[in-house]
Amino acid sequence: MRFEPASQAPAGLAGEHLWLVFQGGRILVVDDVPGEPFPLLRDAAWLGMEELSREYLGRFDGRGVFAVAVPESAQPPAGYRFDDLRRLLGQADDLQFSLAGRAFQVLEWERNHRFCGRCGTPTQAHPQGERARVCPECRLSSYPRINPCVIVAVTRGDEILLARAQRFTRPMFSTLAGFVEAGESAEETLHREVQEEVGITITRPRYFGSQSWPFPNNLMLGFHAEYAAGELRLQEEEIAEAGFFRFDDLPPIPPAGSIAHALIQDFVSRCRARGA
Ligand SMILES: [Zn+2]
Repeated sequence: MRFEPASQAPAGLAGEHLWLVFQGGRILVVDDVPGEPFPLLRDAAWLGMEELSREYLGRFDGRGVFAVAVPESAQPPAGYRFDDLRRLLGQADDLQFSLAGRAFQVLEWERNHRFCGRCGTPTQAHPQGERARVCPECRLSSYPRINPCVIVAVTRGDEILLARAQRFTRPMFSTLAGFVEAGESAEETLHREVQEEVGITITRPRYFGSQSWPFPNNLMLGFHAEYAAGELRLQEEEIAEAGFFRFDDLPPIPPAGSIAHALIQDFVSRCRARGA
C-alpha cells in the first residue's frame, strides 16, 4: 500500500517531503504531534543542521521520503527532538516504524561502505542509480546487507517456552532467536539454536511470518514449533532464565509491534479459542 520504494528521486519532485533524520541511532521527531512524528518539509536544509549523507527511499502517500544523517554535534531546531529509534516501536504505527527502520539501515550501510572491502579504494554511488556502492578500481559492488535470523515460539500443550536473555535491558521474557549461519537453512537454524540455548529438541516447525528489524539489520523469520524431548539446560552466556509458561500466566513479554509479541499473542489466541 502507501509506500513505493525507489533509490533515485524522480526529476521535478515537488512539494513537502518526509525527512527521516538520524543522529547515530536516534531519529528526529516533531515534539507533541501524535501520529505525525517526522518532519514534513520541502527541504531538510530548513532544519539548519549539517548533513553527512542523504538517501532517497521512495514515496509514501505520494510524498518523497528521504533519509538524512547528521553529526553527533547537531542540535535539533526548536519544536523537534532526537528520540531513540527503539522507542518508536509500539508508539509510531507499523508503517512509520518500518520506514524509519529502512532509513536507519540505508544510512548505516552507506556509512559503513565508504571504502571497498576488497581493495580499500573509496567507493562511488552506482552509475545506474541502484542502491549500491561500487569500487571504481576492482568493480566490487556492495548492497545493503540483511542478516536473516530465526525466532521461534516453542510450545508444549498450553505452555510456551520463554527466556530472559542476558542482553535484555529490561526484565522481560521472549521467544528464542538466533542468526542463520552461512550454509544453513532456516529450519536447521531453528533446531540448532533451540538445542544450543536451552538443550531441548523440537518438532513440527511452521512458518508464521517475518519482520524487518533494524537493530542493526536483521530479517526476523518467525516460526512456531513444538517441544519434542529433553530437559531445559541453559547456555548461561546467552540465557539468564527460561521456562515453560501457561498461556494465561505469562511473565512480561516484548512490546506490541515486535514479531516476538505477535508470535506469543498468536499462541495465546489459539489456546483461548480452543477453550484451554
Ligand atoms: Zn575494490
